[in-house]
Amino acid sequence: MSYDFDLFVIGAGSGGVRAARFAAGFGAKVAVAESRYLGGTCVNVGCVPKKLLVHGAHFHEDFEHAAGFGWSTGEPSFDWPTLIANKNREIQRLNGIYRNLLVNSGVTLLEGHARLLGPHEVEVDGQRYRAERILIATGGWPQVPDIPGKELAITSNEAFFLKQLPKRVLVVGGGYIAVEFASIFHGLGAQTSLLYRKDLFLRGFDGAVRRHLKEELEKKGLDLQFNSDIARIERQDDGSLLATLKDGRALAADCVFYATGRRPMLDNLGLENTGVTLTNKGFIEVDDQFETREPSILALGDVIGRVQLTPVALAEGMAVARRLFKPDEYRPLDYDLIPTAVFSLPNIATVGLSEEQARQQGHQVEVFESRFRPMKLTLTDDQERTLMKLVVDANDDRVLGCHMVGPESGEIIQGLAVALKAGATKRIFDETLGIHPTAAEEFVTLRTPVA
Ligand code: FAD
Ligand code: NDP
Repeated sequence: MSYDFDLFVIGAGSGGVRAARFAAGFGAKVAVAESRYLGGTCVNVGCVPKKLLVHGAHFHEDFEHAAGFGWSTGEPSFDWPTLIANKNREIQRLNGIYRNLLVNSGVTLLEGHARLLGPHEVEVDGQRYRAERILIATGGWPQVPDIPGKELAITSNEAFFLKQLPKRVLVVGGGYIAVEFASIFHGLGAQTSLLYRKDLFLRGFDGAVRRHLKEELEKKGLDLQFNSDIARIERQDDGSLLATLKDGRALAADCVFYATGRRPMLDNLGLENTGVTLTNKGFIEVDDQFETREPSILALGDVIGRVQLTPVALAEGMAVARRLFKPDEYRPLDYDLIPTAVFSLPNIATVGLSEEQARQQGHQVEVFESRFRPMKLTLTDDQERTLMKLVVDANDDRVLGCHMVGPESGEIIQGLAVALKAGATKRIFDETLGIHPTAAEEFVTLRTPVA
């Protein structure tokens, strides 16, 4: 049977582009279909523009800190349209880079919506293509609970393109996106409240980290409303919004931003024409080689709902390309010890087990903690404090988890993730010399366990 392509990838996001480029590099004939934007969520409405907005939001504090070092900056003012226009220009540049990466590696790029017609057949803009294998890398989409007035709310997709910075924002959710965007809106000067349905946000992160971030955000004046959830949203006569909470309270706002998780993007994908099955949470079901129940169709990234992070989608894309077209270089993907950061202000970063997870898994745990005021703030009025925490197995001395809340924590924890991957013990941390004066050196000078 003859095919147009060895591999047809649906979705030019983090995972799809990585799989397509490397498959083509290994000699396969590859096509990628993309309906929306090259580079996918991360480049267009995720990691990259988000981090640019976080940098933008941090300037607020930078100007205040500068005064402590003798600088007079005058009264700073902020212009949202300038930030968004500059961000858009940078994203366009990245879109072009992604286009070149694909085209230069010999991948056929089809810009349009792809729909599966069968186990080996895809349709894009009325044109049919046959492929020996098809890879679904269609990512995810924000999910807003079905409440009256949900159409008045925005999600991260729209937030990146708002014409003006809203004056009053209600952020709903307690995960990565809610915490990051609450910091962005607050830092840029909007009056911001974060509403989370339970008693403490960032479920799954270490308890000390969650409590520390709560204290730091509150110190900065961000309004945290836990055990709060919206029942309905209405438009007021003056154009503003009124959110009525489940406990009967009503909050006025100019923008209600939902960050309540993401669903797999399966819209009009034609899965019904194949034997692909879904998990009980609605994500595409795959085995440990990313194969669906339809032997010719694979899937990876956010659409399989394992770990919704770009480096994970990239690693899955690499694994798929190698397994199909360079099997002697294939290594199964190790999902253990994935480092991660939440780019709130201050940032959180973490790798390994939280104290709670370590205890639940039966480890006898020793905990080392340090809380301090970063040196850079000592000449300022800013009372922000950093938290560093190590979770250690008391029996074999292995460091099970490293956690930090503070400036540049992502940069610091990335290095420690290598140490944990190499199986570092607390003794090896202790024998490592610090770089002085840094915040990071605290991680190798923690001597006394917390009682
Ligand atoms: P995506 O990148 O979503 O790509 C899927 C692509 O498929 C899209 O371009 C889409 O248009 C296309 N597509 C969908 N259906 C079709 C179809 N039928 N035909 C053709 N094309 C189709 N992760 C991090 O690691 N760090 C971060 O800081 C971070 N920040 C984030 C911030 C936000 C606001 C969001 C929403 C996510 C963030 N993430 C972050 C998560 C990260 O963006 C995702 O995990 C990653 O993009 C997943 O890659 P993917 O390849 O699975 O899907
Ligand atoms: P998350 O899954 O991280 O968080 C969703 C939040 O919404 C949780 O606090 C959840 O509460 C709450 N929630 C879920 N359903 C409802 C509901 N019906 N009503 C009220 N609250 C609800 O999703 P996000 O949307 O924040 O982000 C999606 C994923 O994208 C993240 O999990 C992460 O993998 C990735 N991402 C990564 C980033 C990074 O690496 N820095 C940044 C942004 C996103 P509960 O805890 O009670 O279930």
